[in-house]
Amino acid sequence: MIMNHTIKAAAIHGFISLIYRKLPMIDYHIHTPLCNHAQGSMKAYIHQAISLGFSEICFLDHLILDGPGKKNSMDIREVPLYMQAIACLKHEFHDRITLRAGLEVDFIPEKIPQIKDILEGFNFDVIGASVHFVMGYNVASRREAPPKDLFDKQEIALRYFEQLDRMLDYDFFDVICHPDIVKKCGIPIPENCGPVIDDILTRISKKNLTLEFNAGGWDHPVGDSYPSEELAIKCHQKNIAFTLGSDAHRPEHVGKNIDKSVALLKKIGYTHVNTFEGRLVRPVPLGMVKCPILS
Ligand SMILES: [Zn+2]
Ligand SMILES: [Zn+2]
Repeated sequence: MIMNHTIKAAAIHGFISLIYRKLPMIDYHIHTPLCNHAQGSMKAYIHQAISLGFSEICFLDHLILDGPGKKNSMDIREVPLYMQAIACLKHEFHDRITLRAGLEVDFIPEKIPQIKDILEGFNFDVIGASVHFVMGYNVASRREAPPKDLFDKQEIALRYFEQLDRMLDYDFFDVICHPDIVKKCGIPIPENCGPVIDDILTRISKKNLTLEFNAGGWDHPVGDSYPSEELAIKCHQKNIAFTLGSDAHRPEHVGKNIDKSVALLKKIGYTHVNTFEGRLVRPVPLGMVKCPILS
């Protein structure tokens, strides 16, 4: 029997989806409404990821224990609810997508003992750490205009990286989120930050920590990934591994620009990215390889 075009096309399509389904496509930075500034149910985020063909996603919602950011975070008493919800969803979706449970914890040195207590009480897959507040200014907020004075901007940028450097004195986290997010809303990174950035990268490399390649920045005022390509090249030179995240605060943002991130990391020379289970690193090959019958 001669195979007609339609059947042949369907067979090729099936073969391609089989190949693509086997490739890991991950998004390790997804928020939930518990942080009070994300929208959509957890299931809506999961359905979006499945519809895009993602194999693994990680909820990494905010935990900010003090200061002005506290209102943009789940309450400490909501952590059990959050973990229970993810456990139920892991069970419900186990045959369609791998779900991971994580937190994006704001670095607040005085709160480290309390943070450690929380982390010990639950079975997290990964813990990310972030600096969002510098000198009382939220570097990640579009609603807060940066200072007009260039000297003040340079001061904020330098203080931001100094805080990241200080964060590396602690060991409560596995991933450093959006490493150069200070540039998000009009604060350029001055040259005098170079030495502290180099120092940070050396320490990250020695501690074998993972950096997040955060794709959200391409849609922010800065129009660039966190980190920039230039910084990612330095990371590669220092053998620093990445994980991938969209920083989705809405279901439709799940997986956004992850393909662009994959292409950029591959161009730089990366072959793998890190995933996590029970706070142990599991490197996976970078997805989106060329299809052998099309390339
Ligand atoms: Zn957020
Ligand atoms: Zn963040």
